[in-house]
Amino acid sequence: MGRVIASLNAGSSSIKFALFHVGQDEFALAASGKVEGIGTAPHLVAHDAAGTILIERTWDGGDGLSHEALLQELLHWAAGHLPEHEIVAVGHRVAHGGLRFGQPALVDDALLAALEMLCPLVPLHQPHNLAVIRAIRALRPELPQIACFDTGFHQGRPEVATRFALPRALHDRGIRSYGFHGLSYEYIAHRLSKTEPAFAGKRLIVAHLGNGASLCAMHAGKSVDTTMSFTALDGLVMGTRCGTIDPGVLLYLQTQDGKSVTELETLLYSQSGLLGVSGVSSDMRVLHASSDPHAIEAIDLFVWRAAREAGALISSLGGIDGLVFTAGIGENDPVIRAAICERLAWTGLIIDAEANRRNATTINATGSSVAVRVIPTDEERMIAMHAVAFVMPAQRA
Ligand code: AMP
Repeated sequence: MGRVIASLNAGSSSIKFALFHVGQDEFALAASGKVEGIGTAPHLVAHDAAGTILIERTWDGGDGLSHEALLQELLHWAAGHLPEHEIVAVGHRVAHGGLRFGQPALVDDALLAALEMLCPLVPLHQPHNLAVIRAIRALRPELPQIACFDTGFHQGRPEVATRFALPRALHDRGIRSYGFHGLSYEYIAHRLSKTEPAFAGKRLIVAHLGNGASLCAMHAGKSVDTTMSFTALDGLVMGTRCGTIDPGVLLYLQTQDGKSVTELETLLYSQSGLLGVSGVSSDMRVLHASSDPHAIEAIDLFVWRAAREAGALISSLGGIDGLVFTAGIGENDPVIRAAICERLAWTGLIIDAEANRRNATTINATGSSVAVRVIPTDEERMIAMHAVAFVMPAQRA
């Protein structure tokens, strides 16, 4: 009987999943995919490691299908697809571990209750992460589940990097910078430690540029500073989130426009960023294809702010040896990478235009004083690596 680990990453209307064979040095991917459109018309697609589609299915009229019902379908499909295998553990991406949980943790009642208390900090992510954990508990109570925190990688940063200039009592209550995208950054640090150990030990900025976007300043594989802070709203311009903003704007909108908290939440999380500035789309590919001057303005602002925040993190690191691009835009968009690199030319960074165009792994030119890499992130694999350490400690890759 073969053994597999399942990784789950649940959002409000989607569940990303991956299944990895264990019992090998590096896990082999058995299948990965996602269910999107939960609440409307759920659509499942799964691929094998070569990208061949294993299943594609839409549940027309499936607007009543819950996360739990769809997980049941997924488990049923997995059992049929991998008949000689058993799932030995399920790892989950959990947005927030608060101050208590830096390391991945085995799910039990006490952990779930503690994580529930953190839902107000990440209202759009944490409740869905926990709902999926509960659903698996109901469907397969015997399966060990491991919560892996997106905040965990940033614990251990210098205290000064975690503090807002607010009264101390608020910091002590937990109103401080936590940072997110930690599983992505941890995967990149892990990958580099295998492929380029000397480079991994240096001062790097990792740019996770996807629909959500942030930068992490890393030294010797550890987070030193990062652009997201108390919530996943801070820092860079994102698909629909505003990034760093003068808090006075929020006071003004409340007092002058009478905006409610719910309205502000919708504004900041769902109507801002690339979508808000362009009025066209939150999707970078659509913006590139558009001739609307507002789309061009949104792209310019995205680049301006990414380079500006990178400058701030270079200060936190006391210099920069390497820049790594990852996630949807970082891995696939040579135009954005080139534009950010051009704004960082003052560091001595020189990009190799041709290597950048073909999404090569190394995209700095010879003579550049900053090494530049493009490395696909793999949060699901990082989750599986954490999960396997709980059930088969000798197996951790
Ligand atoms: P993620 O959240 O990591 O899935 O990234 C989503 C973002 O990546 C969206 O803005 C997409 O437009 C962008 N993206 C994905 N593929 C490409 C591509 N080939 N070129 C430019 N942007 C891309």
